[in-house]
Amino acid sequence: MLIVRRDLCRGCGLCIESCPQQAITLISNTAHINQERCNQCRRCVEACPQGVIIEVAPVSKHELQANVTGLKDKVEDLISKIERLREKV
Ligand code: SF4
Ligand code: SF4
Repeated sequence: MLIVRRDLCRGCGLCIESCPQQAITLISNTAHINQERCNQCRRCVEACPQGVIIEVAPVSKHELQANVTGLKDKVEDLISKIERLREKV
């Protein structure tokens, strides 16, 4: 799956011109890839002068949910530690 590193995109639009699927649009001067249209041809990767279009492994819904649950547990643990520390002060 290809994504744009939005923090580094300069909004030049060269990737849009290179895409045969019309899968890329500029939103607030930043490129966004429509994953449903993208056919992984990677032309945009070669067209981007900033090198900010990168490939990432797709994450399944199950993996995403497991990560969110893990993070939630850590946040709750941190909050309870902070509360315990506050009680001591
Ligand atoms: S990989 Fe190809 S189809 Fe997908 S966004 Fe880039 S240029 Fe378009
Ligand atoms: S070519 Fe690169 S820098 Fe230019 S709009 Fe596309 S992603 Fe952004």
